[in-house]
Amino acid sequence: MYCVKCGVKLEDTEKICPLCETEVYHPIVKQEQVPPNYPPDKRPPAKKKTKIINGVVLFLIFIPLLTSLISDLQPDGAINWFGYVAGALTLAYIAFGLPMWFKRPNPAIFVPCFFAATVAYLKYIDFVTDGDWFLSFAFPAAMYFCLIISTLATLLFYLKRGKLYIWGGFVIALGFFFPLIELLLSLTFDLRFIGWSAYPFVVFGLLGGVLIYLAANRFARDAVQRRLFF
Ligand SMILES: [Zn+2]
Repeated sequence: MYCVKCGVKLEDTEKICPLCETEVYHPIVKQEQVPPNYPPDKRPPAKKKTKIINGVVLFLIFIPLLTSLISDLQPDGAINWFGYVAGALTLAYIAFGLPMWFKRPNPAIFVPCFFAATVAYLKYIDFVTDGDWFLSFAFPAAMYFCLIISTLATLLFYLKRGKLYIWGGFVIALGFFFPLIELLLSLTFDLRFIGWSAYPFVVFGLLGGVLIYLAANRFARDAVQRRLFF
């Protein structure tokens, strides 16, 4: 008898595959208590050093933070540009360092966290530079981007199927980003709305349409897969 999942040879009496732990069911052979084909797995579970690595990464962040603080304070004893560096490093850490602490980081939590930090950083720059573009430009643009990225990450995380549909929808939603940006730019900085955003909008729309077409049409998908060898 062989395992239906991994194909390893099994004793007729075995109830669970020793390799992949698939349940073994044989309708004819009676499963009595007989020693199995293979000895039990006695290897110790692999130790993970992720915590140490994460600690080192966190520590390494402090080196550029400290050096830039010192060099910013050097000439006049005041903080001029350190805030930008600190904000950018914090953002990078939230994006890449923080999820490393978790076994299976949930994007539905981490992506909005990252965007909230981004919005705070933009607000900080707007405040420091006395800009008045935060509420009318940076905030809505970042929010829209956050919404579609979070949706993409969450759907990919939870749904096992329909990935092509998800990506197609995402690419189309990304296309809408450009008219939004042009509109916000024209409102905030008094630029004329000339419609340059129609070009990326159409390109992204077509690309997303192709993905959704491939998702819906099995024959087209198979043909493309054969052609591109994936
Ligand atoms: Zn198996």
